[in-house]
Amino acid sequence: MSTVVALSTPRGRGALAVVRLSGPEAISIAQQLARVDSFAARHATLTELWAGDEVLDQVLLTSFPAPHSLTGEDVVEISCHGSPAIVRRIIDATLASGAMLAGPGEFTLRALTNGKINLAQAEAIRDLIAAQTDAAVKQAARQLNGELSNALEPFKEKLIDVIVLLESALEFVEDDLPLPQVDQIERNLEFVLAGVGALSESYGSGRLLQEGAKVAIAGRPNVGKSSLFNALVRNERAIVTDVPGTTRDTLSEAIDIGGVPVLLTDTAGLRETTDSVETLGIERTRRAMGDADLVLLVLDGSSKVGPEDRDLLQRTSDVERVVIMNKCDLPSFESLSLCVPEVQAINVSARTGAGLATLHDAIVAKLNSAAAENGSLLITNARHYDLLCNAKREIEAARQCFRDRHSEELVLAPLHNALKLLGQITGETTTEDILSEIFATFCIGK
Ligand code: GDP
Repeated sequence: MSTVVALSTPRGRGALAVVRLSGPEAISIAQQLARVDSFAARHATLTELWAGDEVLDQVLLTSFPAPHSLTGEDVVEISCHGSPAIVRRIIDATLASGAMLAGPGEFTLRALTNGKINLAQAEAIRDLIAAQTDAAVKQAARQLNGELSNALEPFKEKLIDVIVLLESALEFVEDDLPLPQVDQIERNLEFVLAGVGALSESYGSGRLLQEGAKVAIAGRPNVGKSSLFNALVRNERAIVTDVPGTTRDTLSEAIDIGGVPVLLTDTAGLRETTDSVETLGIERTRRAMGDADLVLLVLDGSSKVGPEDRDLLQRTSDVERVVIMNKCDLPSFESLSLCVPEVQAINVSARTGAGLATLHDAIVAKLNSAAAENGSLLITNARHYDLLCNAKREIEAARQCFRDRHSEELVLAPLHNALKLLGQITGETTTEDILSEIFATFCIGK
């Protein structure tokens, strides 16, 4: 096994940078650069690092001998001054002493290979680093603690119980299964189906928590879209992000609404027009609305609901939306229920801030983050979701075969598949090529 090295802190200038070494030569390479015969394990040692007759930097070295380390191998962390030039020279010196550059996620992959963590926990490390809000951090931390693997354990046990019962029945071909065993199989399959189903359904909220939700503000010109956009951006917590796909322009801001990372977009005025510049804007609005997980449709409550408003209400009736009657501070304001009783709307004033708390709650409810708030475990990863859905399908197929009194072999095959699929979540049954695909999504140094 080679010894690998990588910068584990972000690139660029900072007060400090951490370079990490892992592998059988990690400690001897560090000793060589520090020109010492030994240094205490798990204690920070202040020392100079050398290359030839030149001092590279004064650093803090901490060693974590195997197996009690992140990767299960000997690990050394070099905390140096955060200049890219120093980092480069230190990494070069370790390479000259026999280390190799780490690939993406290589430290985590080594931890997985050495049984320090399972695959779901390795993915949780990546998600934790990518998390944009407190709620997303909490979910990833729970998965890193092994909660998902623990949640799957009873389902796997029950499936194994069913498999054992059916396999033992194979030996007594002439006899039908006794009734209590038939009941037990039914109960176990029901338990697993309900549990796996509930977990896979939580992906609706979990996906938004991890990937973020696109929310578009739409409506006719002058209804107060930009005012509402500014009010929401002011009221909710801003997200500092460099995640690709959340590039900001003046019309989009990343904010945290009830723990869900939201990319809020103020669309151009939505109305039929022949003006070509405006048509472009409208085209963009349609696209933003089509892309959105949630549309905030704004109407001006201080003027009569007109045919254009009714048209917009009609056109957005089949998308996830919150209808907002703005300008409730004006005397001429009329709530929508007076003119269009079948549509529920929230009365707000972007100017005074009235109704914004109710609007916040309505958005949170629409984004399905109730589950995140009451503290249940959520599926946040598309790979896990696919595996759970496929496992559920296999178990349903097995149950159907069982009810149709097909032979035990026909019931057993999908059950074995389901067990294998659940095992792929934690990595017990994951093939090499899937592993390398997953680790390609990690960043270097993790
Ligand atoms: P947009 O074209 O939909 O983006 O609308 P704007 O946000 O530019 O607002 C149009 C006009 O309505 C501006 O003069 C705003 O000051 C005014 N406005 C927006 N929201 C409110 C509100 O809640 N109350 C009042 N009284 N005026 C508002």
